[in-house]
Amino acid sequence: MTRIASLRSGDLPLPPLAGTAEAGGSLADFIWFRTGGAAEWLVRPRDMADLAQFLAALPPQMPVLPVGVGSNLIVRDGGVPGVVIRLPKAFAKVAVEPGNRIRAGGAAMGITVASAARDAGIAGLEFLRGIPGTVGGAVKMNAGAYGREAKDILVECTLVTREGVIEVWPLDRLRYSYRHSELPDGAVVVEALFEGAPGDPVVIGAEMDRIAAEREASQPLRSRTGGSTFKNPDGHKAWQLVDAAGCRGLRKGGAQVSEKHCNFLLNLGDATSADIEDLGDEVRARVKAQSGVDLQWEIARVGVRK
Ligand SMILES: Cc1cc2nc3c(=O)[nH]c(=O)nc-3n(C[C@H](O)[C@H](O)[C@H](O)COP(=O)(O)OP(=O)(O)OC[C@H]3O[C@@H](n4cnc5c(N)ncnc54)[C@H](O)[C@@H]3O)c2cc1C
Repeated sequence: MTRIASLRSGDLPLPPLAGTAEAGGSLADFIWFRTGGAAEWLVRPRDMADLAQFLAALPPQMPVLPVGVGSNLIVRDGGVPGVVIRLPKAFAKVAVEPGNRIRAGGAAMGITVASAARDAGIAGLEFLRGIPGTVGGAVKMNAGAYGREAKDILVECTLVTREGVIEVWPLDRLRYSYRHSELPDGAVVVEALFEGAPGDPVVIGAEMDRIAAEREASQPLRSRTGGSTFKNPDGHKAWQLVDAAGCRGLRKGGAQVSEKHCNFLLNLGDATSADIEDLGDEVRARVKAQSGVDLQWEIARVGVRK
């Protein structure tokens, strides 16, 4: 759908857009927890140039939040002020390039990237099979599993800054650390270039299958969840601290600490985002009291409380 938008948010006009801009667009419809309020504006740009022009013309005081599929996100119940950018399918292309490289759009899913790498005989990207988010989310979060992270395979990424400038950032500029990048606020990752090593598609495929089976056995994949809730503190596993503090299965409203993997929080069906966030904070307090460790949220919490 293409629509020219000339819309108003309070006193702030939205600039024209070739894509779509939906007032009060639901985020709970697609994010993993299925909870939380709406975006003031949910914007789906048509292409990179459309996004750049839109952001360049957007009043600077208007906040901008890019989202992927919300597999690491709590959207608070009062919703998200300003503009939420969701990249549509046009940004999900994946192409093989010489030098064991894969170029992927910001909206491409990790599993799609891993599968394309397997088919092209490129090893080293298998871990993306187990991370149920987009390329944009993985680049922002330095997503990782099985000893590898986005920083180990990323060559460069293309982003559109909050000011609407298209820039190519080499790996070093993102200053990666554990589940953290220095991507500026409001910048949207629209493309990433990954590099692996030559490999046998059969061996790569077998490793991807192993990862999928291990995930199925250990994580609540079919639940409304947000992935790992807390970062692993130095020298500890977050789930072990949560377990030791007696929080496995702990409930608040419609939210519960997963019995299967206690670094995952669940929406049992009727949870609010406040239930989920308050449960997480309760777990943090109990872990602090039991072990003295201050757990840090890995899940991004966005928007305002009701
Ligand atoms: C069952 C399950 C298992 C998981 N396992 C792992 C794991 O093993 N390892 C791991 O690291 N994570 C894991 N996660 C968490 C999650 O999948 C990753 O963090 C993923 O990279 C998030 O991608 P997303 O597209 O869902 O991002 P979202 O959750 O939508 O957003 C996460 C953050 O990225 C930002 N963001 C999203 N898209 C863009 C973009 N295009 N440009 C700029 N910023 C953007 C958002 O603003 C937000 O700050 C798991 C989650 C689930 C539900």
